Amino acid sequence: MLEAGMSEPRLLENDEPPPVRVLRAEGPSDLFFTADHAGRKIPRRLGRLGVPEPELTRHIAWDIGIRGVTERLSAAFDATAVVQTYSRLVIDCNRSPGVPGSIPPISEHTPIPGNVGLTEADRAARVAEIFKPYHDRIAALLDARGAAGRRTIYIAMHSFTPVFKGESRAMEVGVLYNRDTRLALILLDLLRAEGDLTVGDNAPYAVSDVSDYGVPVHAERRGLAHVEIEIRQDLIADAQGEAAWAERMARLLAAADARLKAAG
Ligand SMILES: [Zn+2]
Repeated sequence: MLEAGMSEPRLLENDEPPPVRVLRAEGPSDLFFTADHAGRKIPRRLGRLGVPEPELTRHIAWDIGIRGVTERLSAAFDATAVVQTYSRLVIDCNRSPGVPGSIPPISEHTPIPGNVGLTEADRAARVAEIFKPYHDRIAALLDARGAAGRRTIYIAMHSFTPVFKGESRAMEVGVLYNRDTRLALILLDLLRAEGDLTVGDNAPYAVSDVSDYGVPVHAERRGLAHVEIEIRQDLIADAQGEAAWAERMARLLAAADARLKAAG
């Protein structure tokens, strides 16, 4: 039965997976992981958004490899991880609803016909059934941790394509941040000290209030130390790569957190 004032769901059917998956909700770790672009599912009612299936396995639909890395980090730390199920082509969970790119009519060079000519109700359904439950869950978990006096380090996990609009990217990993550089600068230092990596400093993207949602809304507003991590997708395209990167990041995040704590 629906609550008063709530309209009938118009996007997800009962047998489709929920938009948010929480791993280790009670995990004792200070680290708290999110993966906004982990999934590539498209609600059945949207009929693949009119996009050919092979396009939906490309980076435009999701952050290839990041679900596996995030699951492994959650396991390594016994840490909570909140993971999105649906494709960012349905609605981008790392953008404010309404900004360009939230429901993209074109992604890289691929037209997304199912995102053209949407009504207000179409857009509202994607916000209400995919974006909002995901972020409400993150907010509720963070509020509960805050109420319990728990320390939380917010880590947004992403991956980036090795070739974007024809241009190759040499860097393997990027550390992204906005106003609060506490954790980012430590992690940058540790990644560079690895010696075998080209590390992006607020690259290949930078965090901003317009291009991002998770870090500004959940981490910055609560004053949580945080970082957004971008790993190049070809490095985590199979289970072996996922495991290697999860292992490396687990080691470095543990060291970064220890330094952060020591810095008070
Ligand atoms: Zn992403």
